[in-house]
Amino acid sequence: MTSSGRNTFASAALLARARQVTPGGVNSPVRAFNAVGGTPRFITSAEGAWLTDADGHDYVDLICSWGPMLLGHAHPEVEAAVLDAVRRGSSYGAPTVPEVELAEAVVERTSVDAVRFVSSGTEATMSAIRLARGFTGRDVVVKFAGCYHGHVDSLLASAGSGLATFAVPGTPGVPASSTELTLVLPYNDRAAVEAVFAEHGDRIACLVTEAAAGNMGVVPPEPGFNAFLAETCRAHGALFVSDEVMTGFRASRQGYWGLDGAVEGWRPDLTTFGKVMGGGFPAAAFGGRADVMAHLAPEGPVYQAGTLSGNPVATTAGLTTLRLATPDVYDRIGATAEVLKAAASQALTAAGVPHTVQSAGTMFSVFFTEGPVRDFAAASAQDLGAYAAFFHAMLDAGVYLPPSAYEAWFLSDAHDERAVQTVLDALPGAARAAARA
Ligand code: PMP
Repeated sequence: MTSSGRNTFASAALLARARQVTPGGVNSPVRAFNAVGGTPRFITSAEGAWLTDADGHDYVDLICSWGPMLLGHAHPEVEAAVLDAVRRGSSYGAPTVPEVELAEAVVERTSVDAVRFVSSGTEATMSAIRLARGFTGRDVVVKFAGCYHGHVDSLLASAGSGLATFAVPGTPGVPASSTELTLVLPYNDRAAVEAVFAEHGDRIACLVTEAAAGNMGVVPPEPGFNAFLAETCRAHGALFVSDEVMTGFRASRQGYWGLDGAVEGWRPDLTTFGKVMGGGFPAAAFGGRADVMAHLAPEGPVYQAGTLSGNPVATTAGLTTLRLATPDVYDRIGATAEVLKAAASQALTAAGVPHTVQSAGTMFSVFFTEGPVRDFAAASAQDLGAYAAFFHAMLDAGVYLPPSAYEAWFLSDAHDERAVQTVLDALPGAARAAARA
């Protein structure tokens, strides 16, 4: 048993077995429920908006595999396309048709002229930074505190002792030499950006930012902030790298850029993608300006490669997902988000729990602190104990939220009336549990 009432005997037994052979029993740390306590659920199947765990309990899934499952789990058309691809062989290490078609689909929807496929968001940002450094002949990278870009050495960095000082490693195992070329700034802080470019501008290869921050909870860029970053980079000969691994094809059909640069008339030099564009399989990408992308091998001198890059099964899943993700899919997900945002806020208000709900397109999250939250310092003021109590009460009522207060809540087009009603029914009791925490 855990702090939630549903029995977890099978999950607990699986966790004990997994721990014998895998650190913490999980293959990505947040899955271990360390931030909220209790037994992580081992999932045995999923369909539409629902997950089923090893003990036979069903949950409305508000993680959607941390973003990818825009259409819901086991979507019949995606499943059929994937099975058809698998029957034709799962990897050849040679160019294939679905890669070309997925690249065309990405180019059609976003600001990029060309893309290169990789297998994870981490690889995408790592490669984009290498390309930015190779293209500019400079070494320094600027990032924002609270933005996550995968477990890339140079980006697992915490701010140094002063604004314009270089960063320190965010984890053991990252050498200081990997982060001493990284500058970490507060998000949404124009003065900080101006200060580092004034001091280090001619050494900066690129500034990388989430198109809208989603890894400290959802913290949208303030109006004009991304345009300001793009312009500042341009003025100093640095590249602007927009990380749309989470927001791409989710915040809107064109990603966050569709709500931002596409409207204001600017574009990033490089963009990274992942999650939705892989349709639940390991596929990610980086892309951008044709002249920058031309610096990649084999056209140019910057080396980058991958045995499973552009894998035909993964690219088929991504392509089928993007084709099915028509504008009405985003309208429906956006409408569902509005219903859940209002209901969560109402329940927490009624229970007297300080909170803020923030969005970026169809993405949203609930902060357990009074807002607005515009940077990582504000996000860190959350009442984590209240969130843990809320999380377990929701889980107990059949709703699977992210096991961390610093995450977006993800929806899919399969979140129908029954799924939404299950969440609505769970919220008041969970809000009261948070108030008691
Ligand atoms: N960038 C962003 C914005 C992300 O949200 C993530 C993953 N959450 C990554 C990069 C890393 O992607 P992956 O986990 O596929 O390596």
